[in-house]
Amino acid sequence: MLHIVACIKQVPDTKIIKMNPKTNTMDRASAPAILNPYDAHAVEEAVRLKTRYGGIVSVLTMGPPPAVKAIKKCIEIGADEGYMISDRAFAGADTLATSYALTKAIDKIAKIQPVDLIICGKMTIDGDTGQVGPGIARRLDMPPLTSVKKVVEINKEQGYAVVHRKLEDGYEVVQSTLPCLFSVEKEINEVPYSPMPNMIKAASYQPHIWSVSDLEDVDRTQLGLKGSPTIVSSVWAPQKPQGGSMLEGAAKEQVGKLLDIVMEKKELFQARGGV
Ligand SMILES: Cc1cc2nc3c(=O)[nH]c(=O)nc-3n(C[C@H](O)[C@H](O)[C@H](O)COP(=O)(O)OP(=O)(O)OC[C@H]3O[C@@H](n4cnc5c(N)ncnc54)[C@H](O)[C@@H]3O)c2cc1C
Repeated sequence: MLHIVACIKQVPDTKIIKMNPKTNTMDRASAPAILNPYDAHAVEEAVRLKTRYGGIVSVLTMGPPPAVKAIKKCIEIGADEGYMISDRAFAGADTLATSYALTKAIDKIAKIQPVDLIICGKMTIDGDTGQVGPGIARRLDMPPLTSVKKVVEINKEQGYAVVHRKLEDGYEVVQSTLPCLFSVEKEINEVPYSPMPNMIKAASYQPHIWSVSDLEDVDRTQLGLKGSPTIVSSVWAPQKPQGGSMLEGAAKEQVGKLLDIVMEKKELFQARGGV
């Protein structure tokens, strides 16, 4: 029986979030919090592997109390258990401190049931670093398989997994020992609408919530802001490109207008000595 832990994060919906023009930071109150879309695919893949091989799926998040909603969403997708680590001691964590805290929680989950596989999203839509998954794998001394687009086989008895890893111009087939960690691409699966029984279970589900004192062998200097060597020196919103014009009319007409513009630019370029 496989025990799969999917790491998930609640994020602001960056499709509609507004930026504070004064501070150049995200105005988190301006957008609803959602389950990081890549993590929905991670949980869906974990649930599919559970269906294929038998087992249980646990989800884990580090976040503030409202992140319980993201765990409930994962129960709707089909996860069995949800764990959340939440404490002021974790606040201000960069990816190094985040991976440290999550690793300590995974150690505790593994005492309940040994972990065979950890699945993360490729990245989050608010932080975008893609570092947390490989960070966890490094700390747990297990192989990180990033950019996974297909799981070919998991063989717990013989202790290996085979996946397709996305490359720029194709994919490679990789075999790894278990336990290992996958970071998954969105194309790995489609997340369907949740079945009604899962939604009913999620509505009343209460995740396991742990504070820092519930975790074992924690070096507090590696947590939160204290354990975060990253310094964000400046943040800015990209400027929208100015100018440009809309080409109107039938396609043929638009192509004609476009060629006129290109020729005009070319003449201008040549008049300035360009070749
Ligand atoms: C100096 C500094 C201070 C910061 N302070 C804060 C702060 O106070 N509050 C805050 O929210 N962010 C803060 N951040 C951002 C914080 O670093 C990231 O939220 C966090 O480390 C995850 O990085 P990421 O979003 O790039 O994840 P990625 O590495 O892109 O995520 C990859 C995958 O890892 C997993 N994952 C990532 N984060 C979590 C998580 N929290 N729980 C479970 N799984 C996860 C998911 O599977 C995800 O798909 C701070 C960053 C810096 C540099």
